[in-house]
Amino acid sequence: MLRVAVVGSGPAGLYTAEALIKQAALLPVPPAIKVDVIDRLPTPYGLVRYGVAPDHKSIKSVANYLRRVLESPDVRFVGGVSLGVDVTREELLAAYDAVVYATGAMRDRRLGIDGEDLPGSYAATDFVNWYCGHPDVDPDAFTLDAESVAVIGVGNVAVDVARILARDPAELEATDIPEPVMDALRASRVREVHVIGRRGPAQAKFTTKELRELGELAGVEVSVPAREFDLEGGFDRSGESATLAAADRRVRGNLVAMAGWSAAATAASAASDAPTGAAPAPDAPAPDATPARNLRLRFWLRPVEIEKSADGTVGGIRLERTRLTESGEFEGTGEFETIDVQMVLRSVGYQSVPLPGVPFDARTHTVPNVAGRVLSETGEPLPGEYVAGWLKRGPTGVIGTNKADAAETVQSLLADLAGGPAPGETALPRPGLLRMPRSAGTAEAAAAADLADAAVDTAVGLADAAGSAQDAAGAEAAAEVASEAWALAELLAARGVDHVSYEAWLRVSAAEEELARSLGRGDRVKLPHRDAVWSAARG
Ligand code: NAP
Repeated sequence: MLRVAVVGSGPAGLYTAEALIKQAALLPVPPAIKVDVIDRLPTPYGLVRYGVAPDHKSIKSVANYLRRVLESPDVRFVGGVSLGVDVTREELLAAYDAVVYATGAMRDRRLGIDGEDLPGSYAATDFVNWYCGHPDVDPDAFTLDAESVAVIGVGNVAVDVARILARDPAELEATDIPEPVMDALRASRVREVHVIGRRGPAQAKFTTKELRELGELAGVEVSVPAREFDLEGGFDRSGESATLAAADRRVRGNLVAMAGWSAAATAASAASDAPTGAAPAPDAPAPDATPARNLRLRFWLRPVEIEKSADGTVGGIRLERTRLTESGEFEGTGEFETIDVQMVLRSVGYQSVPLPGVPFDARTHTVPNVAGRVLSETGEPLPGEYVAGWLKRGPTGVIGTNKADAAETVQSLLADLAGGPAPGETALPRPGLLRMPRSAGTAEAAAAADLADAAVDTAVGLADAAGSAQDAAGAEAAAEVASEAWALAELLAARGVDHVSYEAWLRVSAAEEELARSLGRGDRVKLPHRDAVWSAARG
């Protein structure tokens, strides 16, 4: 029996569990396998549940796929157990053949400017956690009495928070947003949302689909100042923006989306400058006469200070104009602008946090690794320790990126557990149970994932795919599980830690569905308080 603990039940952790089962099933003699997926929260799915925006239902439906992983007979959910608090790294290593860390990136990056900690200045991560009903965040943590909000950063998280702030709350009723958060959104006084990039539109990190969605919001007028949108005559003397536009399809898509908003802004400004009664330009897009909210994309402006109002809260954001010089140097111009805002959301990227006892690179905010093998301070692979997802590679990519990433880590893990190196392989750190049919290697990881995908059908019902050897192993596993003392469960029980099983999570899920029915809101509404989640889990 191969026992693996995966720490983190978000996409990285659950794709890892899936890859473990799929890849192990393809071994010449498939081993019995048990994967315990441990999460500090009583609820599974991590970022899918607490990061993906509630109005992005199709992305959220990834949870349906991940649910099938959790429902595999070889996978067990162990919720409400925190590494470093309820169980140590050493205890996990003693209880399992291998441990995979997949805890994502939970903390915001900081701006490092004055005023960052004023009341009214928040990390976008906290705001996202709030509207996603994260149990760590008080549902009353935010009131939206600011009329004007600055969102710093031009990535997809900035787009998410700007959209939630600008969208008509009636369109959010059918989402899983907790009811107290919906109350705050219904009462929102926000009228202006400024999304601010320190570089230009070609350098923005948005993906085009997400960016375009801003232009589809009813009652929201999106604008980009023409001067900041100008790729050549504006603030980029280096030609980098034009080169990016020529070379990168995503950048081109983004620029097409923004071109319309820049033209509309120009037309609106020309109309307001024109003498009364002047006819609008014939091909100018008609600006929305009475937008409920304005969403202004701004570029080539870097925040230098969050200013304090008379009552000690956020009163404005001071920005310095930036540019790229002819030699490609990024610099401030010494020209400043202040925008009146009463709330600032810093959306400048996520960071992973160190796990107690686990090596961590404080510069990259990742666990040092080669192809998912955790490395010691001296650069040696540590026996039995692996990493996957954002903790492994940093906070980049979309949810699906974690699938190939997890496959690579699992490829390393199974190769290490083989009974010694095959000819041509480097020395492996740990003798073990299995022999992989292929040599391990970073370049082969994606191919291995494809192989696994092709050989096994879409979900995790692996026993069928692996034939009689697998059946025999399955029977052995069942017998072993039945007689096995489950080391982690015993340890937690002895410590009085009441972990949350998959069945207990299903009770939380049922309570959320019941709440949605009672409120007449969609198919699920998150329970508003941490205590409510725990008491639903306990039944
Ligand atoms: P991101 O894509 O890395 O964007 C971070 C933004 O912050 C960049 O515009 C960056 O500008 C800016 N920034 C960083 N430091 C700054 C500073 N000191 N001052 C001003 N601006 C600063 O990060 P993210 O938006 O947090 O997204 C994280 C990952 O999740 C991405 O891979 C994203 O695509 C993904 N995600 C996807 C979805 C979706 O698919 N719907 C939704 C949300 C998130 P520079 O480029 O100049 O550094």
